[in-house]
Amino acid sequence: MDYDAIVVGTGFGATVAVSRLAERGKRILVLERGTWWTTPETLGDPPDPPPPDLPSWAAQNGHPVQYWPRPDHLDGLLDLFASIRHEGNREGLYVYSMFDEVNVLSANGVGGGSLIYSTATMQPEAAVLEQIGLDLGDSEFAAAREWTEANRGLLNKIVTKIPLPASRNPDDLGDESFLYLDRSRALRDAAAAVRAKRGLGEDEARWAPLELAIGEYHESGAGNEESRAAHTFCERQGRCMLGCLVQATHSLDRTLFRGYLVDPRKGVTLWPLAEVRHVRAVESGYEVSFLDYRSDGAEKTVTAPQVFLGAGTLGTNEILLRSREQGLPLSDQLGQRFSNNGNFAGFCVGTARPVQPTRGPMNTSHVDFHIDGRQLIIEDCAIPAMGAGVAGVVVRLLDDWGKRELFKGLMRMAWTAKSVPDLSPFLPLIPDPTDPRDDRTEMEMVADVFFFNGMGQDEANGRFSLVDDELDLKWETPVGRQPVFGQIEGLLRDFSEAMASSEPGAGYVPMPLWHGLEEGKLSVTHPLGGCRIAANSAEGVVDAHGRVYDGAQPAGATDVHPGLFVVDASVIPGAVVAHPTLTITAQALKTMAGALA
Ligand SMILES: Cc1cc2nc3c(=O)[nH]c(=O)nc-3n(C[C@H](O)[C@H](O)[C@H](O)COP(=O)(O)OP(=O)(O)OC[C@H]3O[C@@H](n4cnc5c(N)ncnc54)[C@H](O)[C@@H]3O)c2cc1C
Ligand code: SF4
Repeated sequence: MDYDAIVVGTGFGATVAVSRLAERGKRILVLERGTWWTTPETLGDPPDPPPPDLPSWAAQNGHPVQYWPRPDHLDGLLDLFASIRHEGNREGLYVYSMFDEVNVLSANGVGGGSLIYSTATMQPEAAVLEQIGLDLGDSEFAAAREWTEANRGLLNKIVTKIPLPASRNPDDLGDESFLYLDRSRALRDAAAAVRAKRGLGEDEARWAPLELAIGEYHESGAGNEESRAAHTFCERQGRCMLGCLVQATHSLDRTLFRGYLVDPRKGVTLWPLAEVRHVRAVESGYEVSFLDYRSDGAEKTVTAPQVFLGAGTLGTNEILLRSREQGLPLSDQLGQRFSNNGNFAGFCVGTARPVQPTRGPMNTSHVDFHIDGRQLIIEDCAIPAMGAGVAGVVVRLLDDWGKRELFKGLMRMAWTAKSVPDLSPFLPLIPDPTDPRDDRTEMEMVADVFFFNGMGQDEANGRFSLVDDELDLKWETPVGRQPVFGQIEGLLRDFSEAMASSEPGAGYVPMPLWHGLEEGKLSVTHPLGGCRIAANSAEGVVDAHGRVYDGAQPAGATDVHPGLFVVDASVIPGAVVAHPTLTITAQALKTMAGALA
């Protein structure tokens, strides 16, 4: 066998696997489809000694490095589009998977979703976990939190324009509410109005700051040492999903690089641009086949007695579906029970007071609703400055029937003719940030646009399959008609009513895919399931410790493929109605404890 263990992917579950395997002194190979992404900025006053230098290390090891887009205007947006992964751009950071009823955004790079996520870290409610049959309790979540803070950095609540001294409680600033970021305060105030309108009690619709995996400066107290050691902290630049230029987000690429890869004694080898195709059982272990894009996409194989799949929900479903086609017997449940965690989004355009969505972390606060026995969450979300010009125009444009139809017609004609669309009818609306006469800042372009994110309990009944070797995702009945999305949209309408000015046209505007450019299509950032945990192979794909059921046994058996594990979001058996990474971490720690027992 070439290694003691192979880990596929470098996201949340995979990094937990690497850390636990390395602690046991195993020889580990990590195969990651993407490459390294880092900040082009350097610190004016770096700590002494400075942290190890990624670009130099990567150059010595033959790893390509890419840099986050910098500009805050149209050039930045063009850079961002150039970062989308496709066949001609294997290194692209953003994977935008378009299925019939949903589009899913995920990451491709060392660090997985941590490179582009909003950093919100949340423990789901026990009742929700019980409903989906996920056996994780307070002690597992405490362990996940401890792992997160020890391996990545402290969690912080960042809802204010300036860092607060550790003595202040960001949940309640008393009469200094002006310190809040404007959108955090707007969500809090609108929540009170929605509560009153719906006759809900305080406990049924509670506003609170989110805990974020971001370094914050504290004048004193816990966390102070962290910013002093790193010489950096959150500067409220509102672009966490586009790469934090000041390196304040606690992304997993740094955990892997500084914690394991720079020190060869830790026994961890990472190959970037290595796309795993399938896994095959061989004597005493597994053979993993992958395409090596550092070597013209040549197909290669590598073996180990233990394999940990952490390629994310889409990646792991695809690898296992292909592995089954290649002869690895797996449960018939493979690919079933996909959940989008009830992800839903929308806008309020024309807020009565400025909400300045370009400032502050992506999500800063949330309102936790309990309505008719169901949990629903509504959050504020940033609009990064580089997208402000386009977002400011598109949300207004698509809410006007005439302009919307003209826009769609032009896009259709351009698509048929394979030409660039003539958007001149809209040009007066499109601010040109390169024209000094158009002197609005990016922040002003969207100052009155509030971007909402929502989560809830969907029915977790999407189904993955392989069609012509490509992953497909379908539902028996249209997923957009599931009641949860109507419930969240109802709340967004109420929030918008509470926030909007009395100007004509001010109010709720749906996401363009939900209504406008398409109808009833969902945008998903929390894909879960397909390899769900269950008590036996008739009900799921892995057991409670992430061990993969052996499909060669009769359905309902509990025999597993020894040494084959899934450690990522694909095992989560339904919506958790919380940002999922703490749950993924907790489950991965549980899986690793079993694997290394
Ligand atoms: C915009 C956005 C915001 C989000 N915000 C939050 C948030 O605030 N809080 C939160 O908890 N969650 C958030 N999420 C969700 C979170 O990012 C995911 O739930 C999480 O990353 C999933 O972790 P994972 O371990 O399943 O795998 P991932 O983090 O998805 O990592 C999978 C890795 O595997 C690699 N890979 C895939 N296929 C292959 C292959 N065939 N071979 C080799 N490597 C492969 C990928 O390149 C990637 O590096 C957000 C997601 C997005 C897109
Ligand atoms: S808000 Fe800006 S500075 Fe703060 S973590 Fe996000 S990207 Fe970094």
